[in-house]
Amino acid sequence: MSQNSSKPHFAIAIDGPAASGKSTLARELAKRLGLVMVNSGAMYRAVTWKALQEKIDPSDSAAVVAMLSQIRIECGQSGMSSTCTIDGIDPGDELRSEVINANVSAISAIPEVRERLVNLQRSYLERTSIVMEGRDIGSVVFPDTPFKIYVDADEEVRAARRSLAGEVDSVSKRDAADSERVTAPLVVANGATILDTSHHSIESAVGAAIEILTEQGLESSQPSPTSK
Ligand code: C5P
Repeated sequence: MSQNSSKPHFAIAIDGPAASGKSTLARELAKRLGLVMVNSGAMYRAVTWKALQEKIDPSDSAAVVAMLSQIRIECGQSGMSSTCTIDGIDPGDELRSEVINANVSAISAIPEVRERLVNLQRSYLERTSIVMEGRDIGSVVFPDTPFKIYVDADEEVRAARRSLAGEVDSVSKRDAADSERVTAPLVVANGATILDTSHHSIESAVGAAIEILTEQGLESSQPSPTSK
């Protein structure tokens, strides 16, 4: 890894609604800045996958919490991207299925699920500097980081992006559930700058994000940019 070990690790928090472009942006930023990209949504999706495998009703929070105490969740990294396995299994493409899209918001509203996953998310900083994307990264997981972007896009643009990707995903329903839940709802975190990607290409969105991060104090010497 090409990081400067004399400097403390730091996190760049990228939050926003479904299909706002935050994963693409986080991936490109991580690549550009030489940081590990952590997809926190994949962790909530993996727990949802396991609950459905076990035929647990995602709205039965007591059953989900009981399952939590029985499973091993391991988050690591492969190359410069995060990985997540449950009892040693990486569900892979199944994480993006229609049934997971439809049930993940119920699972992620359960406080005990969030507590377990937030601890795993924070533990990345012990090892490396990261770009982490999700819903509560700037508000709950790393509230003290100065580097926070809230990515947004028009609802029609977001729905079109999902269907272009071949995914069945009711983004407005998921956003409503994620914004209205009691624990760690989707919000614009204190100190976050909003970036609307509706009319940006990937390249111009990355440029705008770098400008925001520079204004937030990210020094060009902070991460070690990769030349690749
Ligand atoms: O980012 P992604 O669409 O893969 O996230 C899937 C779901 O996981 C979200 O709709 C939300 O319910 C949950 N999530 C969350 N907090 C995060 C990341 C994802 O509640 N930090």
